[in-house]
Amino acid sequence: MTLAHGRRYLAIPGPSTMPDRVLAAMHRAAPNIYAGELPEMVGTLWPDLRRLAGTSGHVALYIANGHGAWEAANMNLFSRGDRALVLATGRFGIAWAESVKPLGVTVEMLDFGTASPVDPARVEQALRADRQHGIKAVLVTHVDTASSVRNDIPAIRAAIDAAGHPALLAVDCIASMGCDPFHMDDWGVDVVVSASQKGLMVPPGLGVLWISDRAMERCRDSDLRTPYWNWTPRATASEFWQHWAGTAPTHHLFALRESLTMIAEEGLPAVWARHAALAQTVWAAVEAWGEGHPDIALNVADPAHRGHAVTALRLGPAPNATRLRDWTEQKAGVTLGIGLGMAAPDDPAWHGFLRVAHMGHVNAHMTLGALAVMQAGLIALDIPHGLGALEAAARVVARLA
Ligand SMILES: *Cc1c(COP(=O)(O)O)cnc(C)c1O
Repeated sequence: MTLAHGRRYLAIPGPSTMPDRVLAAMHRAAPNIYAGELPEMVGTLWPDLRRLAGTSGHVALYIANGHGAWEAANMNLFSRGDRALVLATGRFGIAWAESVKPLGVTVEMLDFGTASPVDPARVEQALRADRQHGIKAVLVTHVDTASSVRNDIPAIRAAIDAAGHPALLAVDCIASMGCDPFHMDDWGVDVVVSASQKGLMVPPGLGVLWISDRAMERCRDSDLRTPYWNWTPRATASEFWQHWAGTAPTHHLFALRESLTMIAEEGLPAVWARHAALAQTVWAAVEAWGEGHPDIALNVADPAHRGHAVTALRLGPAPNATRLRDWTEQKAGVTLGIGLGMAAPDDPAWHGFLRVAHMGHVNAHMTLGALAVMQAGLIALDIPHGLGALEAAARVVARLA
């Protein structure tokens, strides 16, 4: 017997649920890529994208996933032989560093583990030690999707300034854009990297970079730039094709137009508040399951350091997390995220971690539904857990809705 038939829910941290309106916007004939509706529509994207990131800076779009968006940032930020300071709080910070190294950029890594945020004092110390100002940029994830740690970006900016260091600040907002509040200009961020398939509710395939005037200027002579990755023509195109270094990603752009319209209709502060509420709903359930059962626990102890797009948790002992994921998918049509970066994939402990996504087109019934399905799985699989999780989750919704 299975109860999985019906609309499935992919509750993994990307790709996220695509709204029917976004899918419908893509259902159209191929548009003319030289004139008419497509270039006119794309003209409306730029101000909305700037508003989303909180900047009056530049925007460059790439036909790319998140890894491609990282590479776009890397190729413009650095010249061969430059140095980068990478602040890691989970698997994605480490992976960004790994994408920089093969370019001939020397990476200095401050690794803060998988359960705590960046300590700005250590950033200041590392930059003070760089007396020659050889470090060109500091790279950090806003929310690391593997650990669900959220970093305090203004505090990191303040640490760079306190060290009197000219390094550019580049932030990976692939998980957090459209989910957690972000204010690029107010926070002194130079480069923001994102992608379409998470909070932006568009299929994977669009990378988005926001670039400050300062970064534009300081990276003008970066010698890693190739014509395809160079952000300058993309951000300042005089002809439409230059935005894409070729053919435009036609249907993704119509999808993005619709998703930005949906975000504007709800209102960005309301979108952020919805994500905060759904995150707290998940946290309340996990805390109740973990009551008296220390094998079940949120990855990040302090709520102030948790992202609002995804929640990483321990659901041990292994292999209980994998058993539960299999059960929810096969029996109830809910696919939960694998644990990432908490244990090596060939380590049996890997099967004691999972993630619940709550990013993008997600509402209370979806999150409460996913939690109720998890509750059913815990019972069906005889996994010891604390009681009252669904009551606790419902109380959060009742209080915040
Ligand atoms: C998803 C994600 C990435 C990688 O994106 P891909 O599209 O899988 O290449 C990088 N950083 C963060 C923070 C992410 O959430």
